[in-house]
Amino acid sequence: ILTRPATKAAVRDADRAHVFHSWSAQGQIEPLPVAGAEGSYFWDYDDNRYLDFSSQLVNTNIGHQHPKVVAAIQEQAGRVCTLAPGFAVDVRAEAARLVAERTPGDLDRVFFTNAGAEAVEHAVRMARVHTGRPKVMSTYRSYHGATAAAINLTGDPRRWASDTGSAGVVRFWGPHLYRSHFHAETEAQECERALAHLEETLAFEGPNTIAAIILETVPGTAGVLVPPPGYLAGVRELCDRHGIVFILDEVMAGFGRTGTWFAADLFQVTPDLMTFAKGVNSGYVPLGGVAISDAIAETFEQRPYPGGLTYSGHPLACASAVATLNVMAQEDIVGNAARIGERVLGPGLRELAERHPSVGEVRGTGVFWALDLVRDRDTREPLVPYQPSGPDNQPMADFAAACKTRGLWPFVNMNRTHVVPPCTITEAEAKEGLAALDEALAAADAHTTA
Ligand code: PLP
Repeated sequence: ILTRPATKAAVRDADRAHVFHSWSAQGQIEPLPVAGAEGSYFWDYDDNRYLDFSSQLVNTNIGHQHPKVVAAIQEQAGRVCTLAPGFAVDVRAEAARLVAERTPGDLDRVFFTNAGAEAVEHAVRMARVHTGRPKVMSTYRSYHGATAAAINLTGDPRRWASDTGSAGVVRFWGPHLYRSHFHAETEAQECERALAHLEETLAFEGPNTIAAIILETVPGTAGVLVPPPGYLAGVRELCDRHGIVFILDEVMAGFGRTGTWFAADLFQVTPDLMTFAKGVNSGYVPLGGVAISDAIAETFEQRPYPGGLTYSGHPLACASAVATLNVMAQEDIVGNAARIGERVLGPGLRELAERHPSVGEVRGTGVFWALDLVRDRDTREPLVPYQPSGPDNQPMADFAAACKTRGLWPFVNMNRTHVVPPCTITEAEAKEGLAALDEALAAADAHTTA
């Protein structure tokens, strides 16, 4: 493929000269040149292997280079690489059927996009056209993507630079007991008070101005915030009462991450629209989508849906999704995520918390965990402030460097490290990662004040 040898220096130099990287001050980064990847690992040009506890951006749910998925992409490339979205295509139809078979309730139609943010854009557009209402509500502790509507709906600081001030978005607080906005002391109180807060916000906004409420089923980048029992059912009830479309964003939580096909399965809640991407094909080829309920599909039976994409349902992406969903079922990859979470990661992380004063809270399920790192367990002061920069971020930078030295690639966001390996991770690999975390946490402990 390459016209010159891919040495470490050549890759590094061409990258630095010509690749403009996401979310970064271009002069302050030194991206690692990666030479290859397989399963739960990737490696650089100096033979350093890294156990990927980040699943890249929490997307390689089946690990790297699953041979059956690679073969399916190669086979499809030999048959037909691209076809416009207006045609009926075998792999596209089969991918949609397999997604619909797994999504809860009547979410049986699929609109394919190229990624998660576009899925959110289209879900919001569907909700606005379906209801004829302008506004959409989302939580502060959220990430929904970097395109226009998705970044405005996003709560995390990546929104700030693109914030138009409103764009029809109303933000509220979701439940998060460890850092409760409602002074709650139990999960039940947190649930009840978070629902009362949402109900009151709705009343003051005017419920019939609200097209949709969008929630990550388990907010991911914001800290793996597993909602208390009853919260999502409560939001569902509020949406039903006011004719509001309930959108669950399963871009990160979906396709096995929580140890179930979808996080919604854990709570037995069916939204009206569900967005997905990442795990649907582990990101082998860009793909996302919206799963659509019967009632919303009905709106567009006789009336055109005002949206489309040249690459909606791209054959290479759909072929990789078909192969991914089939191998996930054949190899019980979702079951593996559940078992590893229950038997290895959950107990192992709780055990680390007992020994490391920097670990304030362990939360999660499946292969979707977060360690909330603190300066002081009693005050729960975060190890670094919200949106840290420069020297403020030193404790987390030290921790991340300590992980990498030990061959572990961590997911780090603000004062948290997330433990989000592939759903295919073995027990031995998970234990290897926990041992590296154990050593690296000493770097975080050194910044505690208690
Ligand atoms: N929604 C959620 C919950 C996400 O975690 C992300 C990405 O991390 C997105 C949407 C955006 O997806 P993408 O980066 O594929 O556009």
